[in-house]
Amino acid sequence: MLSYDQARKVILENCSPAGVEQVSLLDAVGRVLAKDVAAPWDMPLWDNSAMDGYAVRSDDCGQIPCTLKVTGYIPAGAVADGISVEPGCAVRIMTGAPTPAGCDAVVPVEETDDGQETVTLGQPVKKGQHIRVRGEDVGAGVVFVRAGTIVRPPEVNILANFGKALVSVYRRPVVAILSTGDELVELGRTPGAGEIVNSNALSLAAAVRETGCIPRIIGIARDNVESHREKLREGLKADVLITSAGVSAGDRDLVRDVLCELGAEQRFWKVAIKPGGPTAFAMYGTTPVFSLPGNPVSTMITFEEFVRPALLKMLGQQRVLRPLFKAVLREPVKKMPGKVQIVRLRLENVEGRWFASSAGNQQTAILKTMVDAQALAVLPAESSSCSAGDEVDVHFYGNYCDLTEAP
Ligand code: AMP
Ligand code: MG
Repeated sequence: MLSYDQARKVILENCSPAGVEQVSLLDAVGRVLAKDVAAPWDMPLWDNSAMDGYAVRSDDCGQIPCTLKVTGYIPAGAVADGISVEPGCAVRIMTGAPTPAGCDAVVPVEETDDGQETVTLGQPVKKGQHIRVRGEDVGAGVVFVRAGTIVRPPEVNILANFGKALVSVYRRPVVAILSTGDELVELGRTPGAGEIVNSNALSLAAAVRETGCIPRIIGIARDNVESHREKLREGLKADVLITSAGVSAGDRDLVRDVLCELGAEQRFWKVAIKPGGPTAFAMYGTTPVFSLPGNPVSTMITFEEFVRPALLKMLGQQRVLRPLFKAVLREPVKKMPGKVQIVRLRLENVEGRWFASSAGNQQTAILKTMVDAQALAVLPAESSSCSAGDEVDVHFYGNYCDLTEAP
């Protein structure tokens, strides 16, 4: 049986970005740049005014107050060609307008009498003040966003500034989602005796969509070899295949055998984690295949701990694991040594310290505890039961927007 860390390592070693495509700037939001982008020109492209005011020669303004003759006007969008600030003179200028020849400072209108023919300055003037210098933000040729950067509004803004209407990003992998089991009915039908709704397909699709990949629900394989063959074959055409259930040791657990028959190479089966022990991972050519246990809590937790990092890596992301931080347990947690245990928690922040209490009944069949969880604790394999007051590693999960600051 693989450890939690070994399982993650094997998975990440086998998954790599799925290719590169060019998309429009807005379609790149949330995606990862595949190439460094260098500035095609200086930004700003010319020296310009940071304020509405007057362009002056600082040497003329040694004695305050001083009065200068206003000889011109440069609004935003105008050019300063042919305009210069002569000794003893000032040119009215608007924010963003190019500064004229001769000037070495801009005086904000608030520091003047706002004169039209002449202007009187009431405060000392420093050489260079309120002038934005050509190239001071980004010089031509400088790489201003690197490959691996996730595109957010600031990246969109700077890319737009440099005229980049199209950008190269990593492709979004298509992730096939296959459920298995004779007991399953599709959403929309009321389950009869012995039946349950195929909820895993929807929750896996939701989780896949949250990563930025494209979910493709391909239905249900019934508990016979022919049905598994047909559906798994279809799933293996995607960039990634995720199956749920049918991966334990029961005589109707067919997923691994049929995958093997179809040519997928199993890399591991069974991980020392609770819940989620029977998880299997295989490669079909370059297609990763995750076989997750069917119990919905186990399915979601194994997706979170094993599949999500892999999908983020395929999307080109560089930080694929959620950051862990410490929280103090408010109550004891029962645990057997030998397996990593994932515990569903609620969090409170008290004066900068995180405190965690159970989100509810921790049995794997209890779905509501998953809904209420704001974080998952990752208790290391070697540890045994934890006591109230122990510090444990946690990461955010689920509905952590409703976190409250405790008094
Ligand atoms: P199995 O691995 O086939 O023994 O399934 C384990 C448990 O997960 C059983 O209680 C199943 O009813 C449940 N289960 C399996 N597949 C799904 C699914 N697609 N949606 C919801 N629950 C499921
Ligand atoms: Mg089953």
